[in-house]
Amino acid sequence: MAKHIFITGGVVSSLGKGLTSASIGLLLESRGLKINIQKFDPYINVDPGTMSPYQHGEVYVTDDGAETDLDLGHYERFTHAKLTRDCSVTTGQIYGEVIRRERHGDYLGKTVQVVPHITNEIKRRIRKLATDDVDVVISEIGGTVGDIEGLPFLEAIRQFALEEGRENVMFIHLTLVPRLSATGEIKTKPTQHSVGKLREIGIQPDILICRTVARLNKEVRQKISLFCNVPLDCVIEEKDAEYSIYEVPVMLARQNTDILVMKHLGLKSDGKDMREWTNILKILRKPPRTIEVALVGKYVELYDSYKSVYEALTHAGIANRAKVDVRRVSSDSLKSARDVRAALKGVKGVVVPGGFGHRGTEGMMLAINHARRKKLPFLGLCMGLQVACMEFARNVCALKDANSAEFAKDTTHPVITLMDSQGNVVDMGGTMRLGAYPCRLLKGSKARRAYGAEEISERHRHRYEFNNAYRDIFEKKGMIFSGLSPDGLLVEMVELKDHPWFIATQAHPEFGSKPTRPHPLFRAFIKTALDLAAGKK
Ligand code: GLN
Repeated sequence: MAKHIFITGGVVSSLGKGLTSASIGLLLESRGLKINIQKFDPYINVDPGTMSPYQHGEVYVTDDGAETDLDLGHYERFTHAKLTRDCSVTTGQIYGEVIRRERHGDYLGKTVQVVPHITNEIKRRIRKLATDDVDVVISEIGGTVGDIEGLPFLEAIRQFALEEGRENVMFIHLTLVPRLSATGEIKTKPTQHSVGKLREIGIQPDILICRTVARLNKEVRQKISLFCNVPLDCVIEEKDAEYSIYEVPVMLARQNTDILVMKHLGLKSDGKDMREWTNILKILRKPPRTIEVALVGKYVELYDSYKSVYEALTHAGIANRAKVDVRRVSSDSLKSARDVRAALKGVKGVVVPGGFGHRGTEGMMLAINHARRKKLPFLGLCMGLQVACMEFARNVCALKDANSAEFAKDTTHPVITLMDSQGNVVDMGGTMRLGAYPCRLLKGSKARRAYGAEEISERHRHRYEFNNAYRDIFEKKGMIFSGLSPDGLLVEMVELKDHPWFIATQAHPEFGSKPTRPHPLFRAFIKTALDLAAGKK
């Protein structure tokens, strides 16, 4: 029977609950346990797919095509859990299901209520992850304790612990312990209040993980322990990481978090192996060299918008024993070749990531033009491929008004066009081409060399595609269609002949990169950038 860990957050949002949940998952896996992990989001959207990146950061996509919260990205990067659409649950999905059943007549004669019908559905979603092969299910409850919309989830996990037995369920509460800048004092009151709120609902946390900028001395921890009714050794300090988020599991392990969890849940292990992880940390702490690349995107103001891209670049750095600094360039700010020269001065590579809508795309094309002509390594991701094709059409194929049908419906040269499958789409939610699709790589191409395989699979999230009517002209002018769908109909990857490394993909390879398994495209991109910078090519 699987055991359960529930992770809640208090005081403020953005404390790093996702990272902490993923870190606990990693610690349990390092002890040979099999975990599964999910996120509950209390908003009413069915999924974050219809939200702007400014609202909710990146939309992470699973292999099975779910558009999910970006915390799932942390889960995948830290653990081996196989994430599916069941791992991302929202209030919208819960209510949607209960209302569907009500209309179907499943509750005939009854008043349908938050308790028990909504809470039952939440519990059903928790149990769904507890399959036979799983030892521990980690469920992260989004939002902050005290939010109105989070209440049904907290009530559901309280009931869950009652039903499953307290020894099979563990509550971990992540809280903020601030330091006042005026006096330098460490304050425990917000934590006391937050835990007080949880206890009002009937949840007594077993472990408190305290996010803090400063060390918490014994006195502070004793105070937290006493007021929050948590044993002293279960008051864990989680300081801001010094050089990398990947330090967090080690930080938690140092305070025996894994042992506390195993003890509470009655789990056994033969020992712990974290060598792979600590080797990565060694490189991150003292990288032998540094390289700077630019990310030219339309949502750069918010770090979370391209989270997986930044992470994949970091992983590529680890693989090449280098630190990758990313210069974030707003494509909106690039109006001329001169702007581009100034903005990209000194960078050794350019990445253009995904996006939606016309804003900022002309600036992306200027940056791509620069990378193409100056032979700077270039990596285009999804919209990055589409915009690279537009740039090539306009400036190499002399199709001056080439455009994407997304930005100009009646353009004479729609080199990027709406996919056939999208023609009749009316609903905007969950209807893009989503999830993993196979792709064949051309023999002798740089993409094939990077992947070291002929058939690959990558995740997608798009409605538009390269227009096959333009393949011939592009090929004649030096573009190589190095990746196609197995039926040959869909352009998945392009690259340039006369360029050291210019590759763009219609997919989102960034979602599949882990620190322990850096993605081959990112890895090859950074390797080429490093080699060129060192004058090796
Ligand atoms: N807007 C483009 C499309 O829908 C690209 C999407 C993306 O970059 N994820 O095809």
